[in-house]
Amino acid sequence: MADFWQRSTNVLFIIIITAILWLILDGVKALIFCSVSLLWMVLHHLHHLVALERWLLRSNHLPSSIPAGSGAWDDVFAHLSRYVRQHSKSQELLNLALERMRSVTAAMPDGIVLLDKNDRIEWCNPMAEKHLGINLSLDSGQQITYLVRQIPFVEYLTARRYSNPLILKQTRQPSLIISLQLVPYGYNQKLLISRDITRFEKIETMRRDFIANVSHELRTPLTVIAGFLETLSADESVSADFNKRALTLMTEQTTRMQRLIEDLLILSRLENEHNKMTEKPVDIVALLHTLLHDAESLSAGRHQIKLNIVTSAQVLGSEEELRSALGNLISNAIRYTPEQGEIAINWELRDGQGLFFVQDSGIGIEPEHIPRLTERFYRVDSSRSRETGGTGLGLAIVKHVLSRHEARLIITSQVGKGSCFSIWFPTKRLILKNEQEVFIEKDAIS
Ligand code: ADP
Repeated sequence: MADFWQRSTNVLFIIIITAILWLILDGVKALIFCSVSLLWMVLHHLHHLVALERWLLRSNHLPSSIPAGSGAWDDVFAHLSRYVRQHSKSQELLNLALERMRSVTAAMPDGIVLLDKNDRIEWCNPMAEKHLGINLSLDSGQQITYLVRQIPFVEYLTARRYSNPLILKQTRQPSLIISLQLVPYGYNQKLLISRDITRFEKIETMRRDFIANVSHELRTPLTVIAGFLETLSADESVSADFNKRALTLMTEQTTRMQRLIEDLLILSRLENEHNKMTEKPVDIVALLHTLLHDAESLSAGRHQIKLNIVTSAQVLGSEEELRSALGNLISNAIRYTPEQGEIAINWELRDGQGLFFVQDSGIGIEPEHIPRLTERFYRVDSSRSRETGGTGLGLAIVKHVLSRHEARLIITSQVGKGSCFSIWFPTKRLILKNEQEVFIEKDAIS
């Protein structure tokens, strides 16, 4: 009410002056004064109304652009300016919150799609675009089943049992395996969460293959042993000769199983991330002399084995692991080289790195097999590997040992001519006893 009287002061003032003029002068003059005053008031209001309308029609409503007013309009524009300032502040906060939400969802490793009650895409984050092949600017409002057309997904969506995720192979990117989970929310809306599980699926496949391979490797020797044991216990008239042969074969098979289990244990120790390597300077020269001795007993004079040592450099690492890796390469050279073949074991410095290589004149390997040789149980010729006591795990062990020593394995080979397995140890792993050591210039390994 106070506002009403305040806003009416001008009108009251005109009425009072008009009344006084009427009394002092005459009615006509008083009415002229009243009309002119009221006209001035109307023009004053009109002028401000037009200014307000112009401001409202502008595209940006900045508080600084609000027109200046006089009289009652001064207050009106001040209120308006305060309101606009508050509004733009909350708009700014809202924009900030939205921007934060947008960057959080963009950084998320999982894809998120919001679906309306008719399973139409309302919004999705960039990871969902990548997983499901959606382009939000084009596909917003599209049925999700137009974009993810696989029948299992359509069934999953319509079955309305969303407690378990659905595993899907993307048809557009066959290497991508995703897990999809629908979560209902709000009023019949759904949240579709996609996760890239390609790595987990690969590990799962590797685990399944590994169990199958180990079972297969153990089954053959066990079948041999069980067969003999059955015959021996069922038939009392078996000859001493048979007995001897059976015992020899059973011993062979048992040794094979022991070797396999030993290699599996070494691999599992190497793969265990908690099993940190104890690093010490390893005297490679002394190690190679021991390994040469082992190689000679394995070859039993069937090969010519040479040891060429050019450097006394030591390697920082685990002696046990290095013995296993270098020993595996040397024993492979012997096992895959026919009688009278030549094997050269070398240790030198080249291009500032430590180079160990075993060169054989053996059966060689076809190029297509070389990239897969370090896979567990991968063999070029299974029967030759088994005949010579191989477990199929040797090079897998070598690969793990080398990765723990930051070293590289390079394999070159020619079928029928021989192979060369080289290990390059990085400079930072080398301990040079003699500062004058000559670094042999880079040239091909013969
Ligand atoms: P294995 O116990 O079968 O020898 P490895 O992992 O040591 O297992 O080797 C994998 C495969 O690589 C072998 O089965 C063999 O086919 C091939 N291989 C390894 N070393 C040589 C070599 N020096 N010459 C020819 N083939 C080799």
